[in-house]
Amino acid sequence: MSFNNLQLIEPVLQALGKEGYTKPTPIQEKSIPSILQKRDLLGCAQTGTGKTAAFTIPVLQLIHEQKKSIQFLQRPLALILTPTRELAIQIGESIEAYGRFLNVKHTVVFGGLPQHNQVQAIRKGVDLMVATPGRLLDLMQQKIVSLSHIQYFILDEADRMLDMGFIHDVKRIIAQLPARRQTLFFSATMPPAISKLASVLLKDPVKVEVTPVSSVVEIIEQSVYFTEKKNKRSLLIHLLQNKSIETVLVFTQMKHAADKLAHKLNAAGIRAEAIHGDKSQHSRQRALENFKTRKTRVLVATDIAARGIDIEELTHVINFDLPNVPETYVHRIGRTGRAGAGGIAISFCDPNEKPLLNDIQKLNRRFIPVVDGHPFEPGSVNSNMHKVPSTSPVSSFKNAGTGSRGRKIFRQKTY
Ligand code: AMP
Repeated sequence: MSFNNLQLIEPVLQALGKEGYTKPTPIQEKSIPSILQKRDLLGCAQTGTGKTAAFTIPVLQLIHEQKKSIQFLQRPLALILTPTRELAIQIGESIEAYGRFLNVKHTVVFGGLPQHNQVQAIRKGVDLMVATPGRLLDLMQQKIVSLSHIQYFILDEADRMLDMGFIHDVKRIIAQLPARRQTLFFSATMPPAISKLASVLLKDPVKVEVTPVSSVVEIIEQSVYFTEKKNKRSLLIHLLQNKSIETVLVFTQMKHAADKLAHKLNAAGIRAEAIHGDKSQHSRQRALENFKTRKTRVLVATDIAARGIDIEELTHVINFDLPNVPETYVHRIGRTGRAGAGGIAISFCDPNEKPLLNDIQKLNRRFIPVVDGHPFEPGSVNSNMHKVPSTSPVSSFKNAGTGSRGRKIFRQKTY
């Protein structure tokens, strides 16, 4: 299947060529023709599947065509609602890329920054608006934005909206939308509250499901290191001495732990920055940029801050702490292995986290291989030390480009 078979117009095909996309991903193949035929759509897909392009490309084309045939359209015509500012910015970047040869004006609105520039952009007139719920509601209340002419509504990452407590804001926004519209609804998982919302919002939708939450992990090489909580930092520094780990996203549960870890890594000579919800938008963007341009090697993040981070060629994800919710593990490791590329995900597990590991294995219906024989495993010489061992540390995981000093065994664990 090629993009030429999806009823896309020449300027879109040209833009995709410029992006270097040669063929559509499964969700694009399944969604684009139905969206172009003005059908509602229920997409069960997570980031990394190419879902952003699956909804932005056809909506851009529909707006472009509509503007060609009707001279005075009341705007905005389309709204994309997404949970985080990082995702909003990334969707904005995708729109810019895919719509570079189209006559569609867009803007992105999100909180954490003064609204002035966003308001200026809206006042100039936009066809397509990408927004996070809180800022959009603010602007609606101030009568800066009206949704009364929306013809295309896209709800992105609906399950995250629920997890992050935005679902009421989302419902308030939906209540302002015209009844006659096309709705595209995307969610990685379908908990009952989300499928109920979908059934209210969608009219006779086409259903598209790709890489269910547990199968995306199949292309990612995973391993777990058992260690004591107090030794996690030393273990991380030990692993990072393997220079083949060029970029790594490290997840911690708590914001202050992210800051502290980044600080300690820098003290150990490893360039690191932290990104979490307490940081200003500016410093988050800067940290992300430094990471993307490889000025920093390690980005330490909490889950919410990492949502939507889209870094091509991210090879490694390390779960410094295991997540409380097993689905989050899939979201985290899905940061590597984007659009079909492989990646490496390493998890640290202290004795208190073993139930969390069991939950993750249960969800994925597979055991995560345990790396044995590393210097910081419980009961090892180093397990009572806080400093990095003086011997040359070599990572013991496969594909890391070095030999394997540690033994990797595939231990059967009970659920
Ligand atoms: P998403 O699932 O929307 O977060 O997209 C994941 C990544 O896949 C992004 O980096 C996109 O640029 C990339 N991508 C999307 N569609 C394609 C495609 N057809 N070919 C190659 N890469 C793609």
